[in-house]
Amino acid sequence: MPRYEYRCRPCDTTFELNRPMAESSDPASCPEGHTDTVKLLSAVAVGGTSAAPAGGGGGGGCCGGGCCG
Ligand SMILES: [Zn+2]
Repeated sequence: MPRYEYRCRPCDTTFELNRPMAESSDPASCPEGHTDTVKLLSAVAVGGTSAAPAGGGGGGGCCGGGCCG
């Protein structure tokens, strides 16, 4: 059974739940009983800046197209 990580807003803490994939998006109550929780996509994604592509120079984009390698 997959494990999902949630964050409780009132507690400002995170907790994990083992639940079926079909219930992954269902409301989750924290150990304290709060229901104002959000599901975290991954235990690794905390910063939220990983989506930005490697900028570097931003000039011709040579090193992004593979012509440098
Ligand atoms: Zn809580």
